[in-house]
Amino acid sequence: MHASLMMNGLAAGQALETRPARHVIRPSRAAAEMAVRTLIRWAGDNPDREGLIDTPARVCRAYEQWFAGYDADPTEFRQRTFEEAAGYDEMVVLRNIHFVSHCEHHMAPIHGRAHVGYLPRNRVVGISKIARVVDAFSKRLQIQEKMTAEIANTLDADLQSYGVAVVVEGAHGCMASRGVHQSQATMVTSRMLGQFRDQPQTRHEFLSAIGLGRSSACGNLFP
Ligand SMILES: [Zn+2]
Repeated sequence: MHASLMMNGLAAGQALETRPARHVIRPSRAAAEMAVRTLIRWAGDNPDREGLIDTPARVCRAYEQWFAGYDADPTEFRQRTFEEAAGYDEMVVLRNIHFVSHCEHHMAPIHGRAHVGYLPRNRVVGISKIARVVDAFSKRLQIQEKMTAEIANTLDADLQSYGVAVVVEGAHGCMASRGVHQSQATMVTSRMLGQFRDQPQTRHEFLSAIGLGRSSACGNLFP
């Protein structure tokens, strides 16, 4: 059985919580490894047995990758990545940007993909930069709704385009492995700005491009 939960992103103009990422005082690596040892003991195992002895160090190295987004500045490409578009003014869509994030409620992985579209106003941005914005926000503790809005708002501010659309599909490890045990459920969130919000035709063109057009079971999420 495949179930889909679909919900809208934050309302337009809704303020995002300011993130303290750059202002947090981090504990030492040794303290972080001790915390992992504590969790292993709390789970009921012996952190000094052979198979677990290096685990705290491995977990910390994994955290460095999973949460690298706290050291990334998603707005850093703002000044230097715009390119002349030779008059190109049609929709640009980047589909299937795979990401791995972690939910901020359980620190369980979220596997998913993001789809991003925008309508250029005189200039375009390299597609790798769009993927980098997704990467920067996904490699943090997240809820999917906020991540979707953050990606859209950042691109909207940076691109100065006629509109930005972001749809994110995510499978949540905390839901698959515990609680209601819904291993097949995926959550879909979206944020539509500018012409994607104001013009149904533009919105549908984007949704068709990413395979979520009128014919699919979108309910009344994308009227
Ligand atoms: Zn969770």
